[in-house]
Amino acid sequence: MQVRSLPVLQNWDCHSCGDCCRSYAVPATADERRRIEGQGWESLPEFAGVPFFVKRRGEFYLNHRADGGCVFLGADNLCRIHGKFGSAAKPLACRIYPFLLVPAGDHWNLGLRLACPSATENKGRALGAQLGDAREYAAYFESTAAKGVLEGAAPPPLAGSQFVPWSDVARIATAFSEMLANDADPFERRWRKILFIVAMLKKATFEGGGDAKKAVTGGKLSEMLHVLGLAADDDEPKTATEVKRPGWSGRTVFRQLVAVFSRKDHGVEKGAAQRGPVRRFASAVKFAVGSGRVPKVHAVITDAATFAGGEVPLGALSDNAVSLLARWHRLKVESLQFCGAPNFGLSVWEGLESLALTFPAAMWLARVLVAGGKAPDAAVTQAVRMVDDNFGFNPLLGSARQKFALRLLANRGDLPRLIAWYGR
Ligand code: SF4
Repeated sequence: MQVRSLPVLQNWDCHSCGDCCRSYAVPATADERRRIEGQGWESLPEFAGVPFFVKRRGEFYLNHRADGGCVFLGADNLCRIHGKFGSAAKPLACRIYPFLLVPAGDHWNLGLRLACPSATENKGRALGAQLGDAREYAAYFESTAAKGVLEGAAPPPLAGSQFVPWSDVARIATAFSEMLANDADPFERRWRKILFIVAMLKKATFEGGGDAKKAVTGGKLSEMLHVLGLAADDDEPKTATEVKRPGWSGRTVFRQLVAVFSRKDHGVEKGAAQRGPVRRFASAVKFAVGSGRVPKVHAVITDAATFAGGEVPLGALSDNAVSLLARWHRLKVESLQFCGAPNFGLSVWEGLESLALTFPAAMWLARVLVAGGKAPDAAVTQAVRMVDDNFGFNPLLGSARQKFALRLLANRGDLPRLIAWYGR
């Protein structure tokens, strides 16, 4: 299958910061373990008595040293396996990060995880220039998948059992990506308008009851999206201050979701509040109550971070911050990472709602980081990295409980209110 890079402008190259080598538990397959064990590392004194892999819950992972770095991370922040034997000698998970390959019918969409600082900062070559590497990874996935599983796979449903072809899912993604790029609106309003359209489309049927002439597809769907875009522009308040404040229960549910989006469970940035079940439970209770200090679910959360700080508006965002937020969300929308298998099987509409929620989550976190002493732009960048690290990857976000919480916020109309409230 072809690999397509996205129209949204996103650059990336690895700048060898070593963050991923200190942050993640990297799985290694039996073949990868055999290959690494055959590379002769045990003859070096620094590997004496140091296992290359650790086993957890039946899976093998690359081992880490006491300083948190991968056992193969050199003092120069470079991978020693890569340095001595080339990129292909590393585990696939190391090679592919921070790329994402999202199956989209007859091709793959190339996405990116903004948890990598070079991706957040848009540093390096355009993604389109990296298709050669991406094709190699795609070919690997195709060779290991059962025949026919990827190509010809059904698109994610719009909702329930309502399906449209892949081309229409892409049409919806393109329309919303264009709305996210619309500088005429403040960023928070771009999302409120999208959610207005999603709420309308949730009530619609697209198949035409088996009559092809009545089906809303292709150009008809584009027309419908255009008309709803105009209605959203008429209907949605122009400024965040005109939107009703989210209720107490909405903000309580929201904080519990933010607790998941903010946390770091592995590596050197693992939060102190994540160490052990008792601390994790106490931290969950504090997020539900929402007063006093914010539990340190991530190492960047300091003593000065308070829940009261999370309610203080950041004020107008800089052009840089808005451009980062728009690039982040357009990348997730255009690559289709927001729905289907890459986002815990969520339908298109719920996937969009879950992505919309990452905006107030990142803004809440940025406010808390500003209260802890960070400059606003640096706080927004850090918050985007933290939230994107969890989006689509933290299994808690795929749990029935968190999906129910998301549904609750969406069905009660709290999502646009949270977006306006934390987007101020
Ligand atoms: S976090 Fe990104 S820039 Fe840093 S080493 Fe990993 S891939 Fe490279």
